[in-house]
Amino acid sequence: KKKAIIIGAGIAGIASAIRLRSLGIAVEVYEQNTYPGGKLSQMSLGGYRFDCGPSLFTMPQFVEELFELSGKKAEEHFLYLKKDVVCNYFYNDGVKFTAFADKEKFAKEASLVFKDETASVIRYFQRSQLKYNLTASLFLEKSLHKVSTYLSMDTLKSILQLQKLNVNTTLNDYNERSFKDPKLIQLFNRFATYNGSSPYKTPGIMSMIPHLEQHFGTFFPKGGMHAITQSLYDLAVDLGVKFHFSAFVEEILTQKNKAYGIIVDNQAVNADIIISNMDIVPTYRKLLQKHKAPEKILQQERSSSALIFYWGIKKQFPELDLHNIFFAKDYKKEFEAIFENNAISNDPTVYVNITSKHETADAPPGSENWFVMVNAPGDTGQDWDEIVAETKENIISKLNRILKVDMKSLIEHEAILNPATIESTTQSYQGSLYGAASNDKFAAFIRHPNFSKKVKHLYFCGGSVHPGGGIPLCLLSAKIATDIIKKDYKL
Ligand code: FAD
Repeated sequence: KKKAIIIGAGIAGIASAIRLRSLGIAVEVYEQNTYPGGKLSQMSLGGYRFDCGPSLFTMPQFVEELFELSGKKAEEHFLYLKKDVVCNYFYNDGVKFTAFADKEKFAKEASLVFKDETASVIRYFQRSQLKYNLTASLFLEKSLHKVSTYLSMDTLKSILQLQKLNVNTTLNDYNERSFKDPKLIQLFNRFATYNGSSPYKTPGIMSMIPHLEQHFGTFFPKGGMHAITQSLYDLAVDLGVKFHFSAFVEEILTQKNKAYGIIVDNQAVNADIIISNMDIVPTYRKLLQKHKAPEKILQQERSSSALIFYWGIKKQFPELDLHNIFFAKDYKKEFEAIFENNAISNDPTVYVNITSKHETADAPPGSENWFVMVNAPGDTGQDWDEIVAETKENIISKLNRILKVDMKSLIEHEAILNPATIESTTQSYQGSLYGAASNDKFAAFIRHPNFSKKVKHLYFCGGSVHPGGGIPLCLLSAKIATDIIKKDYKL
């Protein structure tokens, strides 16, 4: 019987464990933290519960697939609801927009609030769908690096040259061509942040992202985002996966370019297959020091990070929903601050997520659990105490003005996560949320493949490798990595 070791119990590590178990392989997962989930974890503070990382859930089918693969009924273990309102948008001048999940309703509402017609919005969604359909199966669901069997890399690159994919323009330019109202342009520019990029740099093909939200929908797991981690962890344990916590893997053992084990707690542990769910940069820099690293991949620009305030708020806000955005006045300046100056602008876009809107037990009666996040640059040694203090003041004055309250008097509990602490708790290089940024039009080709080209028996999953970050893509990375293993070992 073959044995696999997985380094890291992030969502992609857990999904890989489930997939390998379903192939009959013995699996052991080593995790540095005392809990599973990596970025997808939770915490309690006073009488409040918070999801620590992701808050937007799309493509639940990739979670369900893991239960079905294991012969279980997903609905007996993992439940979720579909959101009718995707997000509430608040602009600096007091304009509000409710983004409905229904495309027609969204377009109608947009024509009432913005200077654009219903038809322009519908046309935008149609083009978004077209781009998704043309590229998703090729770029997201398979290993780009094993394409030689049915398509050459040149063909793939020429597909990307197709005019309708808008690869040769930026997302902002594409949106400016599609809409008249700067507020609607800003709204569609925001989708660049779904993979931690800048709308002023990322290619127009990213305009396919709204399709995920408007066509496939956005969801909320019963019990909060952490239910994704918990239900998959429980499934893995049930299938016989062995988890070791407080176990930092120090080295991947290799001989003659073949991986055969790891060093953990100064002990060698052997296995036939090694999968690293650790960020690809520290995987090479810390665990594979004897091997030449693929510098071009590792030195790519990283996606943005985040500064998050977890606030226990002793008031309820009927005008807010699960997802709320308070836009910056000058969006360009916000991204310049992040990507050019490694800083946070003094008027950042503020995202407020409130799970107690659906899970009343997440906050005491009459209160709400606020996850307040602004996009931030990666950690390059900035003075985070100073940035946190300044940004907190800026966020509070913005919320006070728009919601007409005194926020400071309402905050009864607070915890903070910054790019440096994201890095220390997950090993994500510079604390980036989604691995490398997609500010380059060929970013899809520069991500690390899900296997090692040099070291046999070594594979990779997670947000820093192909096909990219975010829960759905991380789950796909586990599928691609294990599909390759299946072929390599004729399973
Ligand atoms: P991680 O979650 O980074 O897990 C890696 C694990 O490996 C960690 O547990 C780490 O401790 C462990 N590890 C690393 N090295 C070692 C080692 N040497 N030994 C032992 N253990 C090790 N995605 C969405 O889809 N929607 C969102 O709304 C969203 N918002 C986000 C907001 C925030 C604040 C953050 C931080 C992320 C967000 N994301 C979102 C991104 C999403 O969380 C990630 O893409 C995804 O969870 C990454 O999963 P992963 O498996 O790649 O790795």
